Amino acid sequence: MTAAAIPTRPQVLILDDEHGMCELVADVGDDMGFDTQWCDNFRDFSAHFSTGLRGIFLDLAMPGMDGIEIIRFLGDNHSTAHLVLMSGHDVHVLEAARRLAESRGLKVTGVLHKPFDLAALSAIYDVLAAVADPTRPADGATASRFAPTAQHLRAALAAGHVVPYFQPKFSVATREVVGAEVLARWIDPDHGMISPDRFIALAESEGMIDDLTDGIVDRALDQCRVWRREGKHPRIALNLSPLSLNRLDLPDLLLRKVMLRGLFPDTITIEITETALAKDYSASLDILTRMRMRRIGLSIDDFGTGYSSFKQLQNGPFTELKIDQSFIAKALEEESSRAIVESSVQLGHRLGLKVVAEGVETEDQLDFIKRLGCEEAQGYLLGRPCAAEVFPWAVQGGNHGD
Ligand code: C2E
Ligand code: CA
Ligand code: CA
Repeated sequence: MTAAAIPTRPQVLILDDEHGMCELVADVGDDMGFDTQWCDNFRDFSAHFSTGLRGIFLDLAMPGMDGIEIIRFLGDNHSTAHLVLMSGHDVHVLEAARRLAESRGLKVTGVLHKPFDLAALSAIYDVLAAVADPTRPADGATASRFAPTAQHLRAALAAGHVVPYFQPKFSVATREVVGAEVLARWIDPDHGMISPDRFIALAESEGMIDDLTDGIVDRALDQCRVWRREGKHPRIALNLSPLSLNRLDLPDLLLRKVMLRGLFPDTITIEITETALAKDYSASLDILTRMRMRRIGLSIDDFGTGYSSFKQLQNGPFTELKIDQSFIAKALEEESSRAIVESSVQLGHRLGLKVVAEGVETEDQLDFIKRLGCEEAQGYLLGRPCAAEVFPWAVQGGNHGD
């Protein structure tokens, strides 16, 4: 039942009432260098539980006990393990469990729909192997002391450690997921997750931003193709560095990447910050117009923080305006922020643009932008950036609109 306990191997605990399932998950883990233990009941599970676990595989449907109670137990015991939820239930049950776990401060790193194949299981173990040891000080602590150098980043890009995360974009009217913004994450085996604020500028100053962009775009589009095969058709928003606005080949390159995967260019939107546009507007306009001619959507990101003139907006080829999260955060408390949000929505609509509110964290903020007629919203209230495997397709908050 128990693999030889080699202390340096990351520990994994498995709970499932089906022995065959336990053995399968344990065997694959052992082969991949983990120290696995499994149990078929909660009493044994609580006895084997420790805060030193790297991962926990959890069956959500156990006789006499639902996975929800176990999630509560893990929350109460301050588990830092990466949770992998397994169930034959439909996707909504898994999704609800995932949200409950996250609301209790647990990390859900994977979801396995039974029956699953070996490839799906190995992929989860690959993630468990790549994530930081959760028993060491997490993200904030270790990662903040780690100052990545150009050399680190180059190696990380070559090793494929910079990956796309996806944050859902929602229809304000129906709360349905209509797309996802792709946000880069550096998953470092030693330092855990590193946020883009700590490596995008480095990539730009050290001449690596094209490699980074191309890698993220390729992986995000590969994921889109997988989703399409599953019958899902999210629109995907990609962030572009201001430096990329000098890449004259980019519109054709993007179009090729999109077509190669059997996708349509109008399902892709490029986000450019307002500040980036201000730098060299006429050069940017050239490349942006050629993107638009290829039917790729164009969004003005962080709107309100830069200095785009009405003329630029009027003549620009944009399809979307994204109100900066700093205004959404203060809109209900501060008259000036509220005024900026209201006027941005009006301006966007008068110019025929779709308006997206970013950084929506409360129901009151969502109500506010809904009253203004904002089409789409993005923010922690509705979904955080996450790995594709745990992307929340289900409607959030149990409210399907009016
Ligand atoms: P951004 O494009 O403005 O992306 C939105 C940021 O707001 C993301 O931070 C997201 O995680 C965060 N966010 C989303 N909802 C909320 C919320 O409700 N509350 C709060 N407080 N924050 C929220 P993240 O992922 O750390 O990205 C930071 C910035 O890094 C992005 O800002 C974008 O400018 C840049 N970035 C990320 N990925 C890429 C990339 O692949 N290429 C380039 N060039 N830049 C990227
Ligand atoms: Ca963005
Ligand atoms: Ca933004």
